[in-house]
Amino acid sequence: MAAFEGKSVLVLGGSRGIGAAIVRRLAADGAAVTFTYAGSREAAEQLAAETGSTAVQTDSADRDAVIARVRDSGPLDVLVVNSGFAVFGDALEQDPDAIDRLFRVNVHAPYHASVEAARQMPEGGRIIVIGSVNGDRMPVPGMASYAVSKSALQGLARGLARDFGPRGITINVVQPGPIDTDANPENGPMKELPHGFMAIKRHGRPEEVAGMVAWLAGPEAGFVTGAMHTIDGAFGA
Ligand code: NDP
Repeated sequence: MAAFEGKSVLVLGGSRGIGAAIVRRLAADGAAVTFTYAGSREAAEQLAAETGSTAVQTDSADRDAVIARVRDSGPLDVLVVNSGFAVFGDALEQDPDAIDRLFRVNVHAPYHASVEAARQMPEGGRIIVIGSVNGDRMPVPGMASYAVSKSALQGLARGLARDFGPRGITINVVQPGPIDTDANPENGPMKELPHGFMAIKRHGRPEEVAGMVAWLAGPEAGFVTGAMHTIDGAFGA
């Protein structure tokens, strides 16, 4: 399928997990994909060779580097901001610098990247940010900073949808529940508890999230903006 033939795509955080599945899907659908990574050079280079995409090292915690990467990759038809992580543990014990870094990667980077992408984006451009169902529901202690960061993306999409809508540019948040990746392996600690209250009692697959991203990035989704799209086996229902 060549749904994205001739389209220029940048995925921030594309070397592993959900981001890598998005790179694979959009490249297979014909897009010219560039993706960033932080530390996983080998995984990034392998993925680039496998998919014919371009891997570049850019730390999403570095605001100016993120802005420069988006600017220099433009004009983009599609921006996907996937890079993100959680810090677990007692909020009273956590290192404030680690929490600030989380906010830089999970909130500041999506904001600045989205604004920068929109400067050059043509009419009909697409911005997709990977949030989390934890932006809606946080059923366990020790992940407040992560919940804050993913809730913030909801305001980002609602607000920037208003700014960019007149140019036909959409911005949406995809909110996964537990997805089987290095960060949350299906057989890891986050299995019994969430599966207990989910309707589909398994982790999702990165490819399932990539499918939703591909739809939002495509021509059928031109009237969809400022919205949250949850893919979570009813984790948050
Ligand atoms: P992984 O840890 O498996 O992969 C994270 C990806 O993001 C890697 O490619 C990594 O690059 C990149 N990345 C992380 N930090 C940075 C950074 N500072 N700069 C550039 N790239 C970075 O995570 P997942 O695939 O599980 O998660 C991806 C997104 O989905 C995150 O935003 C996460 O919050 C969200 N999500 C995940 C869920 C899950 O259950 N897995 C559930 C809900 C949301 P590198 O390889 O170089 O480290």
